[in-house]
Amino acid sequence: MRVVLVGAPGAGKGTQAKYIAAHYNIPPISTGDIFRANIAERTQLGKAAKRYMDVGELVPDEVTIGIVRDRIVKDDAVHGFLLDGFPRTVAQAEALGQMLAELGTGLDVVLELQVDDEEVIRRLSGRRTCRSCGHVWHVEFDPPAIEGVCDQCGGALFQRDDDLPETIRRRFEVYFEQTEPLIGYYTDKNLLRSITADGSVEQITERAIDALELSTPS
Ligand code: AMP
Repeated sequence: MRVVLVGAPGAGKGTQAKYIAAHYNIPPISTGDIFRANIAERTQLGKAAKRYMDVGELVPDEVTIGIVRDRIVKDDAVHGFLLDGFPRTVAQAEALGQMLAELGTGLDVVLELQVDDEEVIRRLSGRRTCRSCGHVWHVEFDPPAIEGVCDQCGGALFQRDDDLPETIRRRFEVYFEQTEPLIGYYTDKNLLRSITADGSVEQITERAIDALELSTPS
């Protein structure tokens, strides 16, 4: 199964991507995670991406499309994948369609996670990431036992630069200007399915899997 997850910043794409992908035994592919790994390793790509990420802008299409092109042909993605955070522009969506057509395949479904703006701001501003293992906690919804310390590995928690208030605001503007047009784009292709992404993580995963079961051949 080849799935794309879309939704505003903070809709819970990263969390849901991992659970949904595990359910279908396909790799979750997050362009944001690939950029963050490159930033941590101080690669050229990481340096180039950080400039945009820190201010809530999109990394240029040529860079991002190249990364996805290389990733989706890896062995683990041959029979399917779940893309989280890509495509984010219509140009990326067109490039993805073309890449998949060249591989003789196509997308099965695009799942939109819908959330209310206020809820999203609370989710994003409370998010804390472990510097060592990358686990994501939340000061309000999923706090670690000791503030600032990861329960899983003891690492120090930090707030992503792109979760700071001004950057969150800019990420929303960018979402509405550049990413939301994908909703119409994929509706026209009859690939879009939408679910509300409120409630517990488990409830949302269940809703997501129900929507995917209805949209894909078994
Ligand atoms: P995410 O983890 O998906 O919220 O992505 C974090 C940041 O990485 C975004 O705000 C962008 O700066 C960058 N990014 C991730 N995916 C893309 C993409 N498909 N196109 C452009 N920039 C991206």
